[in-house]
Amino acid sequence: MESTDQAGIPPVKLSEKSTFSFRCHKDVPCFTKCCYGINIMLTPYDIIRLKNRLQMTSEEFLAMYTTPQLLEKTDLPVVTLKMLGDVEGEPACPFVRPEGCLVYSDRPTTCRYYPIGVGTLNHKEPDEEGFYFFVNEPHCRGFEEDHQWTVADWREDQVVDVYDDVNALWTELLVRKRSIPANIMLTQKTKNMFFTASYDIDRFRRFVFESSFLEIYHLDKAEIERIRNDELALLNLSFRWLNWLLFKQGEFQMNEGAAMKRSSAGKPETTA
Ligand code: SF4
Ligand code: SF4
Repeated sequence: MESTDQAGIPPVKLSEKSTFSFRCHKDVPCFTKCCYGINIMLTPYDIIRLKNRLQMTSEEFLAMYTTPQLLEKTDLPVVTLKMLGDVEGEPACPFVRPEGCLVYSDRPTTCRYYPIGVGTLNHKEPDEEGFYFFVNEPHCRGFEEDHQWTVADWREDQVVDVYDDVNALWTELLVRKRSIPANIMLTQKTKNMFFTASYDIDRFRRFVFESSFLEIYHLDKAEIERIRNDELALLNLSFRWLNWLLFKQGEFQMNEGAAMKRSSAGKPETTA
């Protein structure tokens, strides 16, 4: 599957209307071969779906199933799925079984899109619109099947729009960060905050409700109730907060009085 480091051959760009022949089913000779020796970058919503599926906390899921990496051209910390399995000597996805994917209905975004890759998560340059490309791995025989798709049909069939909608602001952050000159580096503290707010929703919840976050930042009562009870509302808050933290953009409001009080007391504004 697609890699976070795809230096080399530029991808052939596809649009939503591009067509291709493809079908993946249990009788293809390559069944599950795309689940070995792969590098799958996980999105924030992938982590939420998988950790809930496995009834784990985000901290437990991150520790057990992910490997941290820096995303090329952004200096931002991301995670990839850790290859814990072993199929005929090859490192394999921990969720692959001879009969298929153990977490199929909660499989990550990259697995849903495959055999298509997403430009915004991989190759997109800042002045380009979103685009897709074929991952083009020689072992994938699904292209020999005769079912015709457009990229738009494939996205609908694989229910990727739900994932893309939840992750939309986070994906924009990656794209915007790529547009900043590479020599502008983030501090380790900012990287840690990006990691927590992106991937570690249970830790981020504690950060919001158990630190002085709600004294420093202005959220109305209805939103506080929403983020207390709805994990996706909390995730959206984390993206908006990151947008404000990294780019000073968006409607995120800081309670100036509380910030000045903390600043004069010599305390950092935020600690994730
Ligand atoms: S999550 Fe499922 S589809 Fe994705 S690599 Fe693992 S086994 Fe394959
Ligand atoms: S390699 Fe291609 S055709 Fe084979 S199982 Fe994976 S996606 Fe399906």
